[in-house]
Amino acid sequence: MELLNRLCRCFSPSGREDGLRELIKAEAAPFVTDIYTDAMGNLICRKAGPGKRLMLAAHMDEIGFMVTHIDDSGFLRFVNVGGVAAHNCLNRAVEFESGAVGVISCENKEKPASAGLAQMYIDIGARDRAEAESKVSIGDMAVYKGEFALMGGRVTGKALDDRAGCYALLKGLKAAAACPNELFAVFTAQEELGLRGAGTAAYAIEPAMGFAIDVSMTGDTPESSFASLSLGKGPGLKLKDASFIANPSARDFMLGAARSAGIPYQIEAAARGGTDAGAINLSRTGVPAAAISVPTRYIHSPQEVADVGDIEATAALVAKMIETAL
Ligand code: ZN
Repeated sequence: MELLNRLCRCFSPSGREDGLRELIKAEAAPFVTDIYTDAMGNLICRKAGPGKRLMLAAHMDEIGFMVTHIDDSGFLRFVNVGGVAAHNCLNRAVEFESGAVGVISCENKEKPASAGLAQMYIDIGARDRAEAESKVSIGDMAVYKGEFALMGGRVTGKALDDRAGCYALLKGLKAAAACPNELFAVFTAQEELGLRGAGTAAYAIEPAMGFAIDVSMTGDTPESSFASLSLGKGPGLKLKDASFIANPSARDFMLGAARSAGIPYQIEAAARGGTDAGAINLSRTGVPAAAISVPTRYIHSPQEVADVGDIEATAALVAKMIETAL
């Protein structure tokens, strides 16, 4: 899990994926034919092969906070970058690219649960506006300062969404023994803002089929909703979320790969959420698409939780898909 730890530690809010991109590029380069970055910031890794074009996408960006105003006392107002829930961010630590650390609090200390993001501010420990402005500027972004830790066979940290997917895609790329398709492993930008990077990448690549590798919520915690996934039972083969319905050919391809490699899997149908599969699916005249999910608890919090065995099984499934002709 050393590589996953390094991936999670990177500062990579939507639109500022450059640091993580360099790390992934160095890891992937020895295993691909060519590697380049497009205008959106997607890292596109192409591996030559005789067959059709297969696109596998994992997003590099994480949710974050952008500074919109600095007051006379040195407190920062902010807007969300991606899906930030008020109940997740209150009293949490955040970190700017410079290393400046802040704590999120809210105006109404009596009823903090009723606070929306507009009633919240970031306290970076500044005594006044001048000190705050010496540390951060309007437009700067922060991300959760989560703790990466192994908990037996499980792991917690910030940005497992979607560093777990990046890890699986990287590891699958390294492990694949053959490449019968022309493979495009794409580490996408700005997924959290509406699948933006995957859309432009798919337009350029024109894949015959595409898959997102991303996290998805579980239904295995106390009083949780009826989500079908549980930790520890293998990757989810996602047939639906709010962004796509799996094309039967894409469903059969991922199912066939999991079965032939003997990888445990869970069939998933999600009521909510979206993945890069949605943008790939609607690219140009349409592309058969589906998604592979790493089952994950507490998504978009600073302490997401996933199962190490599920993450490794997802990597093994990615390797098998790479080795399978479309
Ligand atoms: Zn995600």
